[in-house]
Amino acid sequence: MSYTNKVLEEAKNRNPNEPEFHQALTEIIPTLQPLLDEHPKYEEEGILERLVEPDRQFMFKVPWVDDSGKVRVNRGYRVQFNNAIGPYKGGLRFHPSVTLGTIKFLGFEQIFKNSLTGLPIGGGKGGSDFDPKGKSNREVMAFCQSFISELYRHMGADLDIPAGDIGVGGREIGYMYGQYKRLTGRYEGSLTGKGLAYGGSLVRKEATGYGLVYMVENMLSAKGTTFEGKSVVISGSGNVAIYAAEKAQQFGAKVTTMSDSNGYVHDPDGIDLEAVKQIKEVRRGRIKEYLEYSKKAEYFENGSVWSIPCDLALPCATQNELLEDGAKMLIKNGCIVVAEGSNMSTSLKATELLQKNGVFFAPGKAANAGGVAVSALEMAQNSSRIPWLFEETDCKLRTIMHKIYISCAEEAERYGMKDNLAAGANIAGFKKVAEAMLEQGVV
Ligand code: NDP
Repeated sequence: MSYTNKVLEEAKNRNPNEPEFHQALTEIIPTLQPLLDEHPKYEEEGILERLVEPDRQFMFKVPWVDDSGKVRVNRGYRVQFNNAIGPYKGGLRFHPSVTLGTIKFLGFEQIFKNSLTGLPIGGGKGGSDFDPKGKSNREVMAFCQSFISELYRHMGADLDIPAGDIGVGGREIGYMYGQYKRLTGRYEGSLTGKGLAYGGSLVRKEATGYGLVYMVENMLSAKGTTFEGKSVVISGSGNVAIYAAEKAQQFGAKVTTMSDSNGYVHDPDGIDLEAVKQIKEVRRGRIKEYLEYSKKAEYFENGSVWSIPCDLALPCATQNELLEDGAKMLIKNGCIVVAEGSNMSTSLKATELLQKNGVFFAPGKAANAGGVAVSALEMAQNSSRIPWLFEETDCKLRTIMHKIYISCAEEAERYGMKDNLAAGANIAGFKKVAEAMLEQGVV
């Protein structure tokens, strides 16, 4: 049995009942074998065994009181996975589906993603099974304050810096930052995605979506084409989906779909983004309400956006939202690029199907790395106490995404897997972390 398979099997056995973590391990570890063959030192020093085991993981009670006076209890998580190249960095997800396995899959991916950005950030992730949907602002505040009352002791600008993810946007970050400040008395960059009035960075809100489109810009350029005139299907209608749609439209593409967990809208004239922002960012409503803004749009409760013919597909909702049947529809309809805005959007089988059929595929850890990259830029601005201009930060983001594309493409080609950006991303991300671990000894 190869070294990678041995570590993979051991890690799966050691972490039973965590299917998403197993999936992330299975997607990443085998692709590292050619690099490990070339560098026997990694095996001798047990780098992989050490990498698949989180440095530490916290699970804690989050009690809070709802508007009717009833006491509620949720479960909080933070997994500090690896800090070989910088302090732990990764978002918080508030969604009823969250388990320890979800957070571990996201935290493991985050190590590679953060390394790919070229910035000094290690991997971590956290969250809760709390559902902010349908809660009042006061209830969300009560939950966030309780969550941070436990987590604050593990956070810090040079220790662990959480950020947003599904269900955690500007409102939640604000409440958590307020509580962190109250408990510690420190005004520091211990959270990113903050509001502009209290240490946030311009472009952070847009960063993951814009970064995703910058990644696709590089992929299209490698194939001798551009966004101009392309049709794009996007799933989700949250932070990543909205700003991916915005940049794709600015680049001359037509975005025809958006979705949420209840259904999807198809607007053949192109999605009216101001309407989506009004529904999602202001009213906190459902995507179905889009029909109030467009006469031609249709709403579907069943099926998926992948059935709509397109040139480019950008999954931006959640993990495993693009499975084999979706991949088959995209291939049949002539889609040329799939780039993951959400983490692990595509199952392993669907990814293989896309790649075999010549669809150029970018994995989330490369394609959605713009969010954490600008979070690291927010940390730099917080440390220096000097905010940067929008254009300056956006330009840095675009450059970072270009460099990520180049390093993934080059590593893939170096190991005889041309255009396999998934393998390239794993290898490129792993290299820097492994080198840092080697140099720092067995810790
Ligand atoms: P948001 O909470 O802003 O939006 C999530 C969107 O996805 C909503 O439209 C939501 O619909 C939909 N969605 C969530 N869960 C499900 C589900 N189980 N089934 C169907 N639809 C679902 O989150 P973000 O936009 O921030 O995050 C989206 C993805 O991007 C996630 O995978 C996240 O990990 C990833 N990501 C986010 C980054 C960021 O900076 N925010 C950075 C890097 C990656 P509904 O409202 O109905 O739940």
